[in-house]
Amino acid sequence: MPWCDTCDVYLAPNSVDEGGTCPTCGGSVDTADRIQATSPDQAVPWHFWVVVVAVVAYLGWRLIQGIGWLVQQL
Ligand SMILES: [Zn+2]
Repeated sequence: MPWCDTCDVYLAPNSVDEGGTCPTCGGSVDTADRIQATSPDQAVPWHFWVVVVAVVAYLGWRLIQGIGWLVQQL
């Protein structure tokens, strides 16, 4: 979240000027958090992929169970 020390306010990322300056006072804005949030390494946390793998494994197992149930009905 961009932070302006002069105004003591958080700024919406879209409201920060092109040069990384505050639209209210024109001072420089601390955008370290924004840069970190948009870097490729930080965009998707590792535990997101743990959840993705768990969901895929669970749904795959349920699919196998469903196919087994269908075969039993024949
Ligand atoms: Zn400001």
